[in-house]
Amino acid sequence: MASLAHRPVLFFDIDNCLYPKSTQVHRLMSDLIDAYFETHLSLSQADANQLHMRYYKEYGLAIEGLVRHHKVDPLDYNTKVDDALPLEGVIRPNPKLRKMLQDLDTTKVKPWLLTNAYISHGKRVVELLEVDDMFEGITFCDYGAEKFVCKPAREMYEKAMREAGVKDTGNCFFVDDSFINCKAAKELGWTAAHLIDSTEPEPTTRASQYQINDLEELRDIYPQFFKSA
Ligand SMILES: [Mg+2]
Repeated sequence: MASLAHRPVLFFDIDNCLYPKSTQVHRLMSDLIDAYFETHLSLSQADANQLHMRYYKEYGLAIEGLVRHHKVDPLDYNTKVDDALPLEGVIRPNPKLRKMLQDLDTTKVKPWLLTNAYISHGKRVVELLEVDDMFEGITFCDYGAEKFVCKPAREMYEKAMREAGVKDTGNCFFVDDSFINCKAAKELGWTAAHLIDSTEPEPTTRASQYQINDLEELRDIYPQFFKSA
């Protein structure tokens, strides 16, 4: 089984990636995040939204800015934002996604989740999609840790590699809807596919090696990982 131990890893982002952006979960999330900024930083709704967007652009997620600049407890934030999202009935089982994941040849590739969410949210989403059994593990942002590590920080990708048991960056493949996450992955030596919703504008420069509009396109860009027809 020596070859199995050295399988390349295909890292999947979760939010707005395993379910489409059109699900509008980011809207629900954005409202709760704005409310959190308003309550905890005593800001007007407009200022809360502006700061939230600034942190999102700068750090990849709002919570990092809250922790860095406002000493917010990330676990409290997680309870009031991610875990409070009304996802039941919004994120539904996705048989097409499940089929795509089933078509991965797991003797050739290790499917692994890589999320900036906390474990509770990450697990909840893949369970709602009914694909939770299709991954061999998950690297999440540990909101309980002393040091906050999340994409696109280099340490997060290194943590993912340690946890997934892969040493060579050339064996790391990735899909994420975030431009900065894909760019950072590529800079580290990973092969990354930037997933862009068809309703979104295309970036003027590409984030990484691949740019796709649908997860089904993984079959075309990473054919080496799929069972042959
Ligand atoms: Mg995402």
